[in-house]
Amino acid sequence: MTTLTINQLETAAFAEQILDAELYESVLDETFSLISVLHAAYRIRQSWFGNKVQVHIINNIQNGLCPENCKYCAQAVDSAAPIEKYRMKSEDEIISEAKRAYESGAFRYCMVASGRGPSEKQVEFYSGVIQKIKANYPIQVCLSSGLMGSDATTKLKAAGLDRLNHNLNTSEENYAEICSTHTFQDRLNTLKAGADAGIELCSGIIVGMGESNADLVSLALQLRKLNVQSIPVNFYLPIEGTNLAAPHSLTPEKCLRILALFRFLNPQAELRVAAGREYHLRSLQPMAFFAANSLFLDGYLNAKGSDAANTYQMLKDAGFEIDSSFTIDELSAESDLVGVGPSGSEFDIKIKSKADLRPTL
Ligand code: SF4
Repeated sequence: MTTLTINQLETAAFAEQILDAELYESVLDETFSLISVLHAAYRIRQSWFGNKVQVHIINNIQNGLCPENCKYCAQAVDSAAPIEKYRMKSEDEIISEAKRAYESGAFRYCMVASGRGPSEKQVEFYSGVIQKIKANYPIQVCLSSGLMGSDATTKLKAAGLDRLNHNLNTSEENYAEICSTHTFQDRLNTLKAGADAGIELCSGIIVGMGESNADLVSLALQLRKLNVQSIPVNFYLPIEGTNLAAPHSLTPEKCLRILALFRFLNPQAELRVAAGREYHLRSLQPMAFFAANSLFLDGYLNAKGSDAANTYQMLKDAGFEIDSSFTIDELSAESDLVGVGPSGSEFDIKIKSKADLRPTL
């Protein structure tokens, strides 16, 4: 039926053009072989980012105790997931962990706080923390702290915040299925407040929550329209006790095709293979970096991931380098990298312990 070729998709990406939205769904089905899709995605990725991978380390600066009811989230008000819960970490703890992230090769330190949004007092606290991290370590700083307006984003920009994260998670049509305490529009308003303040935007998705291929194309287009510079693609981790009994239908191949789709539609964005890398991609993890150019090291919000040494070895074996003050070889020689390898299969879901979440206490 379609006469579209993979070369047309690649050429459109290089020319910053968009073809008809439905044509992009062919990246997700079997119209084209996986290898041809990844090859085209790699050429685009390579032209903007070479062979570099940016390493992000996430820090739950406040965990659980959230009044919102995002069904996929282990921290939601009605989640029974057995996670460690705590209020905001101290300034000293957050800064010690920023140092540790920098020394482990991180390009970016991502502070994430549960909750609907920050109070004025919290914004003041964040501002002080951001200023101190930026004064002491050559690391990019990102903050994710729920819904925000322009007063908050203006203050955070003045403090030196590099990037604001606020994920769209799923399409507008699907949003009411996953949350009823805030709306898709609330999330868009937060991104607009960040952009208006001049902060780079990070906004991504969670795949595997019942969305259609058309939903995925629509989200990739929406993120392009918002000029989002960083897109984390999370693959839903069904942590026991959360409220989304998603019948996940993801395969490693589908995950790779989704990453390629986001690369075709957001050729210049930093594309991150985020939560669920180990669980969903399994042995095909290295292939993700032919489309993506970024990852989280040392696990996710409440789930462990591969340990740092294995992740760096995987990148090196696949021919990638990291965007860091240190080389992979220098980091691999260090015994003090973040994260100690999980016991058993790294493809299982394992909940982080207090020692994982607060290593400098
Ligand atoms: S995603 Fe954020 S706002 Fe939603 S329940 Fe989890 S911590 Fe709260």
